[in-house]
Amino acid sequence: MPTLKEQGKNKVISRLLDAAAGVIKRSGVKIKAIGAGCPGPLDSKKGEILSPPNLPDWRGVRLKKIIERRFRIPAVVENDANCAGLGEAMSGAGRGSSSMVLLTLGTGIGSAIVLDGKLWTGKGGFASELGHVSIDYNGLKCGCGNRGCLEMYASATAVVRRRKAAGKMTAEDVYKAAEKGDKISRRIVDETAVYLGAAIANIINALDPETIVLAGGMSKAGKKFFYKVEKAAKERALKEASKGVRIVPAELGEDAGIIGAAWRAKNS
Ligand SMILES: [Zn+2]
Repeated sequence: MPTLKEQGKNKVISRLLDAAAGVIKRSGVKIKAIGAGCPGPLDSKKGEILSPPNLPDWRGVRLKKIIERRFRIPAVVENDANCAGLGEAMSGAGRGSSSMVLLTLGTGIGSAIVLDGKLWTGKGGFASELGHVSIDYNGLKCGCGNRGCLEMYASATAVVRRRKAAGKMTAEDVYKAAEKGDKISRRIVDETAVYLGAAIANIINALDPETIVLAGGMSKAGKKFFYKVEKAAKERALKEASKGVRIVPAELGEDAGIIGAAWRAKNS
């Protein structure tokens, strides 16, 4: 169901809880824990939302406590990009890999690092902000304060911005048009593949992962796009680390975050 954030946090939370109650009732199984994915940054240990840019009135909401009070079972609150990553790692495109990195190309770039079946969240829970890996230290200024961040070049927002002559095209439209032979779209998609490849080379050199999963509108871009990303990444990464790494489209779509939140609760 849509968030309808304009209704304010109290209404959204109560609809969320009612929806969960309905699902639990219909499922007919005994639920042991609840996992919730939320926009970050958040404190997963306390289950508190900190300062999500798109949900300003959610600052300081202790969602874990709210859920536990209503359902009287343990709850876990995790960053939504991390949930999507865990979902793909356990049940989707990263299934069977010992290490997986997810990049979701949306409004910004969400990402997750899963090592040996566990999320890598860092010392304070703020790890895997790979959208802010810089691919040009003198490049475009990003909202985070850095320059040349990947999300300024390869997010859906950035793809649409570069295809500005096209009016109301979405990133998905640009990828589809490129596939059908539109020259300007083709050029933008090819550039995006190189930007992504440059960032992925950094990720490969840092983590030597088995699988890199790409999610978002570009899953419509087809095999050629993935081949180009892989080529650009392997040209730049250290040979030994890039050998055998798989760069593949996500499999779970919108469900990735829901499935991953459940895994997160199960393994907590
Ligand atoms: Zn940034």
